[in-house]
Amino acid sequence: MTDLSGKTALVTGSVQGIGLAIAKELAGAGARIAVHGIADEATAQAATEALQEAGAPEARFFAGDLSQPEEIDALMSAVADWGGADIVVNNAGIQKTAPLAEMPRETWDAILAVNLSAAFHIMQAALPVMAARGFGRVINIASVHGLVASKDKAPYVAAKFGLVGLSRVAALEYADQGSRDTGGVTVNCICPGWTETAIIEPQVAARAAQMGGDREAGIADLLSEKQPSKRLSDPSEIGALALWLCAPVAHNVTGTAIPVDGGWTAQ
Ligand code: NAD
Repeated sequence: MTDLSGKTALVTGSVQGIGLAIAKELAGAGARIAVHGIADEATAQAATEALQEAGAPEARFFAGDLSQPEEIDALMSAVADWGGADIVVNNAGIQKTAPLAEMPRETWDAILAVNLSAAFHIMQAALPVMAARGFGRVINIASVHGLVASKDKAPYVAAKFGLVGLSRVAALEYADQGSRDTGGVTVNCICPGWTETAIIEPQVAARAAQMGGDREAGIADLLSEKQPSKRLSDPSEIGALALWLCAPVAHNVTGTAIPVDGGWTAQ
């Protein structure tokens, strides 16, 4: 079993969905959790309590709108004051679909800011600290859309391809830090396919509407188009992979983009 006691993990967007599921896995292994996201007080508190119940010796909520670089600076400085992050999961993300010609410029800017630039700003602050400690894990939650395209997703696909490229550069720059004993510093992407969270709801609802309002039929239709397993992933399955990447045994796994996509990108 991976033991993360003594380690601190910052998981962006960890008040719900994939981020909360990853944070729960890391908490279960004994990590302190810096919980983060856009959330009201009750939601933030519920997430924090759930993570303590999952095993985190401490969990504290940190605010910060990742579309605003100065709020990212404040977030990273607050986390540094809390002891700094040994593990960073850049998970927060947003998605809007529209044909390229109709995509509002502000949607492009917002998706690039949250899904790509925020990871750059956070890694700039976090990686030197990890290098000094000889241990660090950056896990960037990209997407199958960091590996292949779909129509109507220009900014999302651009941001996720960018995140995969950015992660490779960071992996190379920090590959020789630390040792097998300290665990080294690695940077990887996880690339989920369809996973059951709030972010896919607008697409599920639109497809369900085309299928006479049948939600299950809508999901089945979306899956049959792209995801050969025809099964949604559960967020906890992304969490289990993130936990494995944090283990010392994964010290030489860096610069990868690992799909969890039921065969989508094998086609
Ligand atoms: P979600 O909508 O449930 O969670 C998104 C999280 O991001 C929330 O916690 C939210 O608070 C946070 N967030 C959004 N905008 C923010 C901002 N400006 N500042 C700070 N936090 C912000 O969706 P999810 O599915 O859990 O998404 C998590 C990640 O997984 C995203 O990067 C998404 O692109 C990626 N992903 C999801 C799927 C899927 O099918 N669910 C597939 C591939 C990739």
